[in-house]
Amino acid sequence: MSGSEQATDQNQHEIAAEWARRDAAVVWHGFTQMSVYEDSTPVIVERGEGNYLYDTGGRRYLDAISSLWVITLGHADPDLNRAAREQLDRISHSTLLGNGNTAAISLAEALREVVPVTDPHFLFASDGATAVEQAIKIAFQYWHNQGVTNRTAYLALGQAYHGDSVGSLSVGDGGFGTDLFDPLRFSVIRTPGYDDPDWVAKAVATLDEHHDRLAAAVIEPLVQGAAGMLVTNPDQVAAFADAVQARGVPLICDEVATGFGRTGALFASELCGVRPDLMCLGKGITGGYVPLSATVASSGVYEAFLGEDLGPRTFYHGHSYSGNALACAVATRHLELIFERGLIDHAAAAAERLGAALTPVAALPAVREVRRRGLMTGVELDPPAGASRWGRRVCAAAVSAGVLLRPLGDVVVVMPPLSITDAEIDTIAETLLSAIEEVAAEDTLT
Ligand SMILES: *Cc1c(COP(=O)(O)O)cnc(C)c1O
Repeated sequence: MSGSEQATDQNQHEIAAEWARRDAAVVWHGFTQMSVYEDSTPVIVERGEGNYLYDTGGRRYLDAISSLWVITLGHADPDLNRAAREQLDRISHSTLLGNGNTAAISLAEALREVVPVTDPHFLFASDGATAVEQAIKIAFQYWHNQGVTNRTAYLALGQAYHGDSVGSLSVGDGGFGTDLFDPLRFSVIRTPGYDDPDWVAKAVATLDEHHDRLAAAVIEPLVQGAAGMLVTNPDQVAAFADAVQARGVPLICDEVATGFGRTGALFASELCGVRPDLMCLGKGITGGYVPLSATVASSGVYEAFLGEDLGPRTFYHGHSYSGNALACAVATRHLELIFERGLIDHAAAAAERLGAALTPVAALPAVREVRRRGLMTGVELDPPAGASRWGRRVCAAAVSAGVLLRPLGDVVVVMPPLSITDAEIDTIAETLLSAIEEVAAEDTLT
């Protein structure tokens, strides 16, 4: 390395450290211990292009986690950016409470054609947790509006994650250090998650016992993402959905993570042949550009809320940014681009390629299991007794080699954008392999 290149590296390092210092002084990062944040060499992103992020020092990282599962067609896509600019010049936001905007209407019309929900109606919000929160409250009031007041329980799965607001946290199964909020959680009837091969039979037995007090049952179809990419198969999801709906219990499919092409179809419910009564959309809905989420209600649910003006059947719930025109315009264009570019088929082929590329990773003694559905992938490490923070250390090694990964405990998540190329898939797999070997060797040496 020449003298001037060394100087540049040194300079880049100082710039990055200065941004990390400014960051730690004022920003509180979620799920992050701030006392060590500055020293953990965080990647401070300045811009993105395609499947890459660029930090403050100009270093490039392959975004192998789609910026926490939201990016679908890459960063700063010129077509999507143009749609955002065009909408900006019209209007960014006007309220959906009692009035409407053309961008939200157009998006709802476009989504109506593709969601596996009967005669769907869309209640927009900004985060996945809020979409779930809305679904929980809608299911509760759905019964209330029909004079049924004893259906106050929810059936949810072990290992489930549905977001961090108190209601969505309640249907979630805890973990991630959230157990301290247990006194705030409402009680939920819990049945095993996808790590139990008999989860459907057990869920059906629980349904038989409790169905007449259930407001709804909630599930992440096909993949329990935050649980560490636990997977099940479409037949099992269909059997669960049939059992729920046959007993007259509304089914909520939380597709915040699985939606928009991540599992090999536009929606996981579609792959399972399931038609939920309520569906939650978020994360990939705008391609990861602008915060937006939606709770989708079937006509059967929606119509239970129709009644007199200012009457008790109204859904008294709404967020300031519901139906934000900028977000809706981006989401509409994003949906078009998914189809124009054939990204669902591309992602399915990319998923096959990723599976093949990860074969040597799966064969490592330091790897317990590789779980996959579409582009949602979890590589579960198998740390020796006494080894600590393998997930964290493997991802840190990958990041320093230019591939941005983030673990869930000792599960390394690989969830690239739908636009990922074959060469980039190979880079991710090779980098992950080296990172695991590096960390495993460190623990053998000491
Ligand atoms: C991420 C996620 C949520 C929460 O979405 P936020 O936008 O982070 O609030 C809910 N459900 C599932 C399945 C998720 O993966």
